[in-house]
Amino acid sequence: MRPTYLEIDLPQLKQNLENIRAHVAPSKVLVVLKANAYGHGVDGVAPFIAPFADYIGVAIAEEGIHLRKLGITTPILIMGGTLLEQLPEFLEYDLTLAASSLDLLSAAEQLAGSAGKRIKSHLKIDTGMERIGVREYEAETLIEKSLACSHVDVEGIFTHFANSETIDDSLPSNAREVKASLQLERFQEVLSIFEKRSVPHPRIRHTANSGATLRMPESYFDMVRPGVLFYGVYPGRDIERTIEVKPALKWKSKVVFSKLTLPGRGVSYGSLWQAEEQTRIVTVPCGYADGYFRRMTNHPRVLINGKSYPQVGRICMDQFMVNVGGDDIKVGDEVTLLGNGIIPEELADWAGTNEYEVMTNISVRVPRVFMGAVQ
Ligand SMILES: *Cc1c(COP(=O)(O)O)cnc(C)c1O
Repeated sequence: MRPTYLEIDLPQLKQNLENIRAHVAPSKVLVVLKANAYGHGVDGVAPFIAPFADYIGVAIAEEGIHLRKLGITTPILIMGGTLLEQLPEFLEYDLTLAASSLDLLSAAEQLAGSAGKRIKSHLKIDTGMERIGVREYEAETLIEKSLACSHVDVEGIFTHFANSETIDDSLPSNAREVKASLQLERFQEVLSIFEKRSVPHPRIRHTANSGATLRMPESYFDMVRPGVLFYGVYPGRDIERTIEVKPALKWKSKVVFSKLTLPGRGVSYGSLWQAEEQTRIVTVPCGYADGYFRRMTNHPRVLINGKSYPQVGRICMDQFMVNVGGDDIKVGDEVTLLGNGIIPEELADWAGTNEYEVMTNISVRVPRVFMGAVQ
């Protein structure tokens, strides 16, 4: 196997889920497995965690189909936008549709009717994210249509927060950001349409992503949808850590080359960095094609034999260099890029991005090793 690999601590993921579940009970938990399980490797994470999830959420139909082909039988919500021509897949693979428009709901009703089958659906209300969904002020028409459906099983209704990790009171009253509390109010207004008509609301109401799961118990309703939190990462640096979770990811490699470099010899493309005195430079077989972002160049620190060293010179596609000074680091010594105290937030800072982008960009070229998997 490649010396550069990801180690995923599956029992830690399960522990994170249990901690979240204990906090939100009796609300149920949808586990978000989109984007290759936030980079962790869905092929290992999904079979392990599905038995403990009430629902699974992914972004696109292809991800749902992939899960079904892995043998996952848990209900799967396709949370993102769907084109009409993708609807037959929802029937074939028993995927739950986010009904984000009247057209989509109508087409699903028609398709399921002519096939003599049922499609599960959750109404997607846009209360301020302005991404997909029917706005709260137009929701009555969607609801009316949903009540007339006999082939679409409208079991859920949901919305998504744009600013759930920001404390509303910290925002000025004229803030550009839509407050999570305002989005929640709009969602409640939509739910009151059911009450007004004396019909039951769909039985699974859900709004909470990780930020709201941590900060807004009033947003739990019947189910929460924590993504990044399930993976042990907090969605904001200052957010109150009301639920204890820990990262489950370690990114490791091995030194493939070790040499003494003389002063004045620039290291890597562009010769951006050069030693001031003779020093040992080692090469790590991992690069930006693996998701170790080129824009981190000269910022990261890595651990070799437990000690922290600076990355130097341009990060290449497949390799990067580390300055180990006078230490006797040899070919084959273990390198830790993430984990053992190096947290996703640090890589995010070095790359000028967020933890989500760091994790989801670790490429499929990096093998995933699942620890604690039941064979
Ligand atoms: C990705 C996603 C989530 C999870 O978001 P986190 O910030 O990772 O908790 C929840 N709901 C929807 C609709 C999403 O697309």
